[in-house]
Amino acid sequence: MKSKINAFMKEVEERNGHEPEFMQAVQEVAETVIPYIVGQDIYHGKNILMRMVEPERAVTFRVAWVDDQGEIQVNRGYRIQMNSAIGPYKGGLRFHPTVNMSILKFLAFEQVFKNSLTTLPMGGGKGGSDFDPKGKSDSEIMRFCQSFMTELYRHIGPNTDVPAGDIGVGGREIGYLYGMYKRLKNEFTGVLTGKGMSWGGSLIRPEATGYGTVYFAENMLKTRDDSIKGKTVLISGSGNVAQYATEKATQLGAKVVTLSDSAGYIHDADGIDAEKLAFVMELKNVKRGRIKEYVKKYPSAKYVAGKTPWSEKCDVALPCATQNEVNGEDAKMLLSNGCFVVSEGANMPSDLDAVHEFLNAKILYAPGKASNAGGVATSGLEMSQNSLRMNWTREEVDSKLKEIMANIHAACIQYGNDGNGYIDYVKGANIAGFVKVADAMLAQGVV
Ligand code: NDP
Repeated sequence: MKSKINAFMKEVEERNGHEPEFMQAVQEVAETVIPYIVGQDIYHGKNILMRMVEPERAVTFRVAWVDDQGEIQVNRGYRIQMNSAIGPYKGGLRFHPTVNMSILKFLAFEQVFKNSLTTLPMGGGKGGSDFDPKGKSDSEIMRFCQSFMTELYRHIGPNTDVPAGDIGVGGREIGYLYGMYKRLKNEFTGVLTGKGMSWGGSLIRPEATGYGTVYFAENMLKTRDDSIKGKTVLISGSGNVAQYATEKATQLGAKVVTLSDSAGYIHDADGIDAEKLAFVMELKNVKRGRIKEYVKKYPSAKYVAGKTPWSEKCDVALPCATQNEVNGEDAKMLLSNGCFVVSEGANMPSDLDAVHEFLNAKILYAPGKASNAGGVATSGLEMSQNSLRMNWTREEVDSKLKEIMANIHAACIQYGNDGNGYIDYVKGANIAGFVKVADAMLAQGVV
């Protein structure tokens, strides 16, 4: 089996070896999906995984815009349309200086499996730009978004490709992008998700990724007759996903003790309660400040510069910042400090060494493509509401989100049992996500 996986990866590397994040995402899938394919006659001779690794289409484009000083700036825009076998391409836009082809292809590849797991009819895609929104004025953000959309609009549409937010793209950016799309196309359609409530958005969409990550942790804990109530939780990041993971974990009786950004983390032994979280939301979403300002307001907390939160004691870890933020050493530290649940809010936050540590220790470990799928699932619900031209209530959307997370959990159990009673959620998510897409591709012929 190892030789089959190695042969496959060698071929992928010949074309993509210069894209480390993409290679990592493919390796993780290959390790679990190839052993499954080998035992299933219908996939023999179809080269199906190789077809899934190659994007259906990838576009890059120039994004020129004028800053507040009147200088012309040039950034690079991207859209990766990875797979449309089960629905229109769907996946976020990331604005961050580290954005490149490797990062976006890994995210688009993960998205294909994640969207399949939601059971909704959505293909996978991802896009964005190396534009850095930090320190930019509101007018600069608007001009950039408008320029970005003057090219992107040719490639997207409500039945073709429906982008959403990701790192650096929240409600404000979606608004500016949507305004320009509507002007260019002269139509009011659900071409983006994460929209404002008065212009086609869905209740619970901003909360959905963070809430879903916690719901998934609850589903895992239930298999051991346990719950998140009373647990000490480490969360990384302080953006959209981290904020709402904190809110839901706290509502369910857990104590969240850390948040972070790319400069360091804060630890509050008393827990980040609703009032403290409201301060963080104002700080990050309105004032666009840094997490270290938390300790000025709450001096009993500590700030640790240049480090991630993984050396702190906890029962549950929810990595909600970015890819590869938990390495093998971090994973060992988490395990030795008593952590026995990891539910990923971010995409691929654990590197391959960390994943292997968690699986070898047989803890409850959920890869992002399963545990953070609540965001895109609720985007799917936003698309449905747009098509129906109606709005569901907060309770309706939240109960559908809970049901979807429970269904994803059940699908992971179906395919992830290692034979000794341990649920390998990586294997479960990869195979369950693969089967639906692969079967649709077989039915649609070689295209
Ligand atoms: P935001 O932009 O709202 O927040 C990102 C957070 O992560 C910030 O606190 C940011 O700190 C931190 N961060 C970003 N890059 C790094 C880095 N290189 N090192 C350390 N910290 C970093 O993004 P989201 O909360 O939306 O996204 C977070 C993660 O969740 C991403 O992996 C994203 O792909 C994933 N995700 C998001 C979904 C969504 O619905 N938004 C859906 C599914 C997954 P700083 O301000 O210093 O940059």
